[in-house]
Amino acid sequence: MSEDYKLLCKELENLRGNTEYFVFGYSELNEPLYAFVLGNKDSKKSILVQGTIHAREYINSFVLIEIIKHLKTLSLPHKVVIVPLLNPDGVRICLEGCEFIKNESYKDLVKNILKTFPQKMYKANARGVDLNTNFDANWGRGKSNIKLAPAGENFIGFKPNSESEVLALINLTKTLAPKITLSYHSKGNVIYYGYAGQLENTLKDQTKFLNIIKKSTGYTGIYTMDSAGGYKDYCLLKLGILGYTIETGADYLTHPIGLESLEEIFKSNKNLILDILKEL
Ligand SMILES: [Zn+2]
Repeated sequence: MSEDYKLLCKELENLRGNTEYFVFGYSELNEPLYAFVLGNKDSKKSILVQGTIHAREYINSFVLIEIIKHLKTLSLPHKVVIVPLLNPDGVRICLEGCEFIKNESYKDLVKNILKTFPQKMYKANARGVDLNTNFDANWGRGKSNIKLAPAGENFIGFKPNSESEVLALINLTKTLAPKITLSYHSKGNVIYYGYAGQLENTLKDQTKFLNIIKKSTGYTGIYTMDSAGGYKDYCLLKLGILGYTIETGADYLTHPIGLESLEEIFKSNKNLILDILKEL
């Protein structure tokens, strides 16, 4: 097992030892997907935060783990549910290749992809589906979408909402019914917001919370022009839930962003959730 993946597992294990959590689903390789619960559990208002839907962006799992540790020390007015690692299989492929995969057909599929796609740039899950293009929100209409076959990035899947990680996140979101979702990606230090055709009720507070996120992180806001099939898109278009994508890490950094950037990214995002909760 690679050092970074070993460390990530260890950090998550430690967190499970001292923080309320539940398993909300399983990855395609049957790894449990963890959601950590913080803040005022009696409040009807909540926020849902998820990270590392894209494998090579696993720095955000470490960032969210640090954020959880920080939030545990504070008294929070509302409920916070954080999913630090949505795509564990993909992260392991990005760090280790395909040899760890026990299921022979998945192993062959990934081995085939890695013949032409650089392992370190891997974004997809163990079935070669880019999870953030698989949601049923203008599915397959993105300009970079790949429709024919599994790939290291941009393959939308053979049908919308087909992947177990995607279905688990949709079910979690529907059950929790949060007021806002945050999706942690890398990179660029920008915030993607809005969506063509988003449900009317998501427009009301969009600018207010965008300004809070901009102020808290120092990142730049960008209106989403050509995204399709993403989690934020699905929240805005299908669920009527306000969603933002936070792209962490300076643009000059290369994928995967290493742990040497953890402190700086954490510092920019440390107060974000509390700043949002105060205005929820
Ligand atoms: Zn991403």
